[in-house]
Amino acid sequence: MRDSLTLGRIAGIRFGVNWSWAIVFALIVWTLATGIFPSTNPGHDRATYVTMAVVAALFFFASLLAHEFGHALEAKREGVEIEGITLWLFGGVAKFRGMFPSAGAEFRIAIAGPAVSLVLGAIFVLLAWKARLPEVADGVAAWLGYINLVLLLFNLLPALPLDGGRVLRSALWGISGNLRWATNVAARIGQGFGYLFVLGGVGFAIWKDEYSALWIAFLGWFLLQAATAENRLSLAQQALRGLRVGDLVVRDPVTTSPDISIGRFMDDIAWTTHHPTYPVTENGDVVGLLPLRCVTEVPRSEWETRTVRECMLPREEIPVVHEDDDLFDASAAFSDGDLSRAFVLDGDRFVGLLSWSDVRRALELRRARRS
Ligand SMILES: [Zn+2]
Repeated sequence: MRDSLTLGRIAGIRFGVNWSWAIVFALIVWTLATGIFPSTNPGHDRATYVTMAVVAALFFFASLLAHEFGHALEAKREGVEIEGITLWLFGGVAKFRGMFPSAGAEFRIAIAGPAVSLVLGAIFVLLAWKARLPEVADGVAAWLGYINLVLLLFNLLPALPLDGGRVLRSALWGISGNLRWATNVAARIGQGFGYLFVLGGVGFAIWKDEYSALWIAFLGWFLLQAATAENRLSLAQQALRGLRVGDLVVRDPVTTSPDISIGRFMDDIAWTTHHPTYPVTENGDVVGLLPLRCVTEVPRSEWETRTVRECMLPREEIPVVHEDDDLFDASAAFSDGDLSRAFVLDGDRFVGLLSWSDVRRALELRRARRS
């Protein structure tokens, strides 16, 4: 969920939007202004429909945020750490750190979002139905009630990673006491719904010549990917449980000084040690990281005139983790980067390097031991 724009904070929880939300916003406004509102509320001019559409889309956006805040505030009450809330292509995601403390806690956190959607949907429906609103406001409220309730139903499908899937997992976890098994079942149901939507969407598109059904297939594909990822993530999380960064850090790695020439670095360090990266230290502080591939890009004729400092990646660009961080949580900080490495610090003191391949190795060892 990177490349997201922070909009603000409520109750200490950061919230923002992913760039993809701009596309969704435009699509919603366009669909509402040209298709839905002209048919539900006929007889208005174009400017009125566009205004209705923008207002409805903004309230829709606020409803999605409120849903995620439902999850996040409940999580906070349960003592689960929250990284933030991001709205993206398919709605909202509240990001948590670490594991849910218990099946009951997961259940309450999972159900809190749909509960907010239900209340919002009911309020909009009642406004449209009972309140004496001007006709255009009535149209907007009716659509908001409808969309909140439709999304609520979709969201309650018992398919991980949807909220209904989390509710199911927490129930199975509570009954069996086995989180691994519960995750596997809920994720497989998620994959099942994913296949169903893909096949159904494509089938319907071909059978009825109705290409908008491809959206359902797209949604199914997304669900399939997300359920598979969720299952894999849970496997990794379980396998790494109890490990800290300090257990895997490579201490006292071979370092280099920033002010020697590339030529000297090659002769004195690179030929005799064989590492893909070298931390660059100055007076005991780490100031950057020198990947060997950056050095090899420097033409041989410039080896004597250029220094390590000119080639290294500055410290600000390298992810930083701490010795007593949970290993699974910490590895999220550097698993998908180009470099797949992080500096390990103890307070401000440089301890060593942690690489994604070390984490993967630990994962495989632990899995082998269990099976
Ligand atoms: Zn939710």
